[in-house]
Amino acid sequence: MLLEVRDLHVEFRTRDGVAKAVNGVSYGVDAGETLAVLGESGSGKSVTAQTVMGILDVPPGRITAGEILFEGRDLLRLKEEERRKVRGAEMAMIFQDALSALNPVLTVGDQLGEMFTVHRGMSRKDARTKAVELMDRVRIPAAKQRVRQYPHQFSGGMRQRIMIAMAMALEPKLIIADEPTTALDVTVQAQVMELLAELRRELHMGLILITHDLGVVADVADKIAVMYAGRIVETAPVHDIYKAPAHPYTRGLLDSIPRLDQKGQELYAIKGLPPNLTRIPPGCAFHPRCPMAQDVCRTDVPPLYDVTDSDAERGSACHFWRECLHG
Ligand code: SF4
Repeated sequence: MLLEVRDLHVEFRTRDGVAKAVNGVSYGVDAGETLAVLGESGSGKSVTAQTVMGILDVPPGRITAGEILFEGRDLLRLKEEERRKVRGAEMAMIFQDALSALNPVLTVGDQLGEMFTVHRGMSRKDARTKAVELMDRVRIPAAKQRVRQYPHQFSGGMRQRIMIAMAMALEPKLIIADEPTTALDVTVQAQVMELLAELRRELHMGLILITHDLGVVADVADKIAVMYAGRIVETAPVHDIYKAPAHPYTRGLLDSIPRLDQKGQELYAIKGLPPNLTRIPPGCAFHPRCPMAQDVCRTDVPPLYDVTDSDAERGSACHFWRECLHG
């Protein structure tokens, strides 16, 4: 396994008390594989990713338990200098908001080139050539001319392509993309997703795709981990989840995707809001919003049951996963 997160716990000190953002998350991704991590905001998906990348603000964040094994090495035990080497060269991150992630006063050519001058010791001239190559590779038209332009001179979709180019500049083994297409319109979203999937195939990278939208990952992910209140509540190969979810929360997320054959009908929305992480409900954290909740759900935390029914591993943290799966 390229990356293996084991029983990770992260919390934040806030004025309201301790917010338990990540509560025992385990997941893994192999080279050439795409894992989509799905959940509403506050589910812990981005905090887990930031911890993997080593960019969590500590304090107020605190990693209280767990391991993050990258090619067998526990990243949480590395010195900051070693960690910095892993970041960028071996794993890279793509953020949602390219405009604030890019430096507004440097040309994109300078920013892309810096990856090669700093990490590879290249001359400025060679780095510029590399920058143009990268822009070509992520299909930015007229790369030779546009390499001299500033981030604000590009459209949202093109800026996201520049972010992708920066992330893949050093050909990392793992890319984490945090809501990479949320700010884009639907057509551009699909193009950017397709580009990411294509580069992942070409470079045989592991890809973790963080999103709140199940609709955007169907064609690109191999497997999905659904998060709620800092825990993984369902994990399965992508097609199994779309065919039959084994957790009511996943079912709710699937039912909230707009569908062409239901035009004009009111869109389903999961009732209520995700919990305040300083006061996670007892038992199953989803019980106040769950249409299938029973008494046991209010008292007993459901473990991640093994619900594998074919070769691929599958898990659901629901006491009533059978009823959900076959319902
Ligand atoms: Fe709903 Fe109970 Fe399953 Fe939680 S354990 S998802 S409350 S049915």
